[in-house]
Amino acid sequence: MLKDGPREDELEVSARELRRINKIRRDFVANVSHELKTPATSLRLLAESLVEIIDEDPDQARYFALQLKSETDRLSRLISDLLDLTHLESEEKVTDPEPVDVRGVLMGVLSRMRPSARRKGLALRWRRAGDAADYTVMGDETQLGSMFANLVDNAIKYTPEGGSVEVSAEADEKSVRVRVADTGIGIPEKKLPRIFERFYRVDKARSKETGGTGLGLSIVRHVAENHGGKVTVESTEGEGTTFTVYLPREDQTR
Ligand code: ADP
Repeated sequence: MLKDGPREDELEVSARELRRINKIRRDFVANVSHELKTPATSLRLLAESLVEIIDEDPDQARYFALQLKSETDRLSRLISDLLDLTHLESEEKVTDPEPVDVRGVLMGVLSRMRPSARRKGLALRWRRAGDAADYTVMGDETQLGSMFANLVDNAIKYTPEGGSVEVSAEADEKSVRVRVADTGIGIPEKKLPRIFERFYRVDKARSKETGGTGLGLSIVRHVAENHGGKVTVESTEGEGTTFTVYLPREDQTR
């Protein structure tokens, strides 16, 4: 008589797979807890210091209060990035895609980012590559906006004063391609394969200084993939980095 159900060796594989998935989940919870613990500890220490000196030293008190604000902002950013990422990971593609003008989204991102580029003395430029008139893709405008904002924000963060960041886009009937190129510190070749992992930072100390959550590029990769596209990176240490996002056009995603 034929037996129904999985063979013993198949059961073994799925038990192993289950252990692997459980390990990924445990690692994620451990990472998140660790990432939340750092700002939570800073908040407690700052609050204690503030209480101690509030009556005696108003200047020092103001300094601690500002530090408290910046650590709180960092914690809020971390929580909001985590929520975005969880949402993006739970869907394999955009649920209700609508026509989105990528060029319009980029213009919005550039104008929001201009003040922080100016503060750092960076030239933030837009260049239309090619002569396409239509930059529409099917997708989610908010997700696309947050993807490009993450890339431009990183380009500004990791480019020293006096450098430049250039955003360009080109389109043909098959796809829209967006490039974010900076003249910044670059990424060592060995580290490139890991930069899209959650919480991975090339330089932990620098990322803490700039207030990064280590989740930006994971969000970028998920948004690109949920739109049927992809993101690639080229970088030379000390010279700069270029991220390219490839998004298939309307008729390709149907
Ligand atoms: P973070 O919040 O630390 O910026 P991301 O996920 O956005 O986290 O990026 C991961 C890491 O990749 C960063 O910590 C940084 O080391 C590196 N990185 C990202 N973008 C750039 C860039 N434009 N130039 C140099 N390094 C970058």
